[in-house]
Amino acid sequence: MKEIILIKNGELALKGLNRRSFEDVLIKNIKNAIRFCGEANIIRAQSTITIEPKNNDFNIDEAEKAISKVFGIAAFSRAAECEKNIETIKDFTSKYLKDKLLNAKTFKVEAKRADKSFPLTSPEISREVGGDILRHFNNLKVDVKNPEITVTVEVRDKFAFIRANQLPGAGGMPVGTAGKAAVLISGGIDSPVAAYMMAKRGLKLDAIHFASPPYTSIRAEIKVKTLLSEVAAFSGDIKLFIVPFTEIQTAIAENCKEEYFTLIMRRMMMRIAQKIAEQNSCKALISGESLGQVASQTLGALCSTNAVCNMPVFRPLIGMDKIEITEISRKIGTFETSIEPYEDCCTVFTPKHPRTNPKINDILAEEAKFDYSPMVERAVQNVTAELINQTDY
Ligand code: ATP
Ligand code: MG
Repeated sequence: MKEIILIKNGELALKGLNRRSFEDVLIKNIKNAIRFCGEANIIRAQSTITIEPKNNDFNIDEAEKAISKVFGIAAFSRAAECEKNIETIKDFTSKYLKDKLLNAKTFKVEAKRADKSFPLTSPEISREVGGDILRHFNNLKVDVKNPEITVTVEVRDKFAFIRANQLPGAGGMPVGTAGKAAVLISGGIDSPVAAYMMAKRGLKLDAIHFASPPYTSIRAEIKVKTLLSEVAAFSGDIKLFIVPFTEIQTAIAENCKEEYFTLIMRRMMMRIAQKIAEQNSCKALISGESLGQVASQTLGALCSTNAVCNMPVFRPLIGMDKIEITEISRKIGTFETSIEPYEDCCTVFTPKHPRTNPKINDILAEEAKFDYSPMVERAVQNVTAELINQTDY
């Protein structure tokens, strides 16, 4: 039996003249996502993209899983090729969709006939196939308005194609159609979700992680890489920059009042992140902040972090509760990794009584107590880069 995957474009169908270039990006992303599954042709016709395996070595189960994570896809389904003869079609449909048909109560058949020379009309095909299904499965009734299963029979020029319901795709816009941004990634629950949400709007991702060895362990870095490989299943490959942050964190701890530690650290992170972003053609930063979640995410604190940065900072979680964020992290598969215990550099120097309503002049006075500019430069210069592959996970 030969199976294919049919893909319906998402929002990009609305993009008028840009549509073709959006589709080109989507097709490139689909190719990348299934590159480890074997060889396949990818064919575009109207609003449908078809993945057609070149041989039996193609792993269509894995391809289906990979496709479910590609942004820009509204819906997809697996279909099987069948000889264009009504008796064969009837026979084949009951066998191919047996498991699905056994587990449902209602169904309908929809037929489409691209080949008008086929001897039966579409309604006739539906009636024939529907009648045959009713004879084989006495658990089923026809429901044309709201069926559990819609069996689709499409008669094309060479073959007929049989399929059941479409599955919902990942939605959003093809990654790369909105440019590139750098996500500040910690090891927590929030920043991987923020990365996922912005990739869904079409942004290609770089990632920046601040590490403070020996206060943070190598396990924390491994955790970040695992998280990114989970995000990369949706976003495509991610270039990760690891910033050596120990010198700056130690200098803050030695020179500044404890209640300002986190705020000044966050401002240093933004200064460094912006420089790395600029060097790598990223037009925005992404962070996992949510208003009021912790002391460094009050409005006052966010204003003070924002003040050192002139590139847009996207905070897609700003209006979300922890419960909502956690739900998404479970859905996308990052939650279990995020709750592993390894220390992040934020938690290492946490003040007992952080300032929640900082005055900018006080922060500036604290920052003036040490010469941070050369340290920021050194951190940017000594950054290490690594590619996190979409297929690593
Ligand atoms: P998360 O769950 O993403 O760790 P959080 O609720 O712990 O977030 P903070 O520790 O205040 O919040 O960090 C806020 C944001 O700052 C994070 O979402 C992330 O974007 C960024 N950030 C924090 N720590 C780091 C780090 N070590 N490296 C890079 N970015 C970081
Ligand atoms: Mg954190």
